[in-house]
Amino acid sequence: MVSEKIENPRFLCQSEAKVKKSQRALSRKKIGSKNREKAKLILAKKHEKIANQRKDFLHKLSRRIVDENQVIVVETLTSKDMMKNHKVAKSIGDVSWYEFVRQLEYKSNFYGRTLIKADPWYASTQICSTCGVKGEKKAMDVREWTCACGAQHDRDINASINLLMLAN
Ligand SMILES: [Zn+2]
Repeated sequence: MVSEKIENPRFLCQSEAKVKKSQRALSRKKIGSKNREKAKLILAKKHEKIANQRKDFLHKLSRRIVDENQVIVVETLTSKDMMKNHKVAKSIGDVSWYEFVRQLEYKSNFYGRTLIKADPWYASTQICSTCGVKGEKKAMDVREWTCACGAQHDRDINASINLLMLAN
């Protein structure tokens, strides 16, 4: 099985840094001043740019996934769970998971693919994809772990293998 991990694109992090910079610049301008109006406009433009970049990235990625696969399994995350952890919340926000699933859904429909949504309670991260034993809950910052059976796992790849099993 070939696994591919897709990271958040760098340009989103860069654009995000620019948004923060513009936010700081705005907060330093005097209320009611012309400069403040200018800074507001600059910030709005940066926000618009990052939103477009994100949308474009999600469209290209969802299109590629739908092109390359007949069956697609997605994890459905409860946003409440994810937002508990600031770091994860940020990365979920970055790739806008819900929007991504929405795109996969309508593109799968259009191109006759099967999209399976995993139950939010399916323990994709806890199950060892090698021996099938359900281990303990793993904290969000555990990126790699070793099962009692000796199998070494990358958290996300192990979870994605488990999700893929739902397709069979
Ligand atoms: Zn195992």
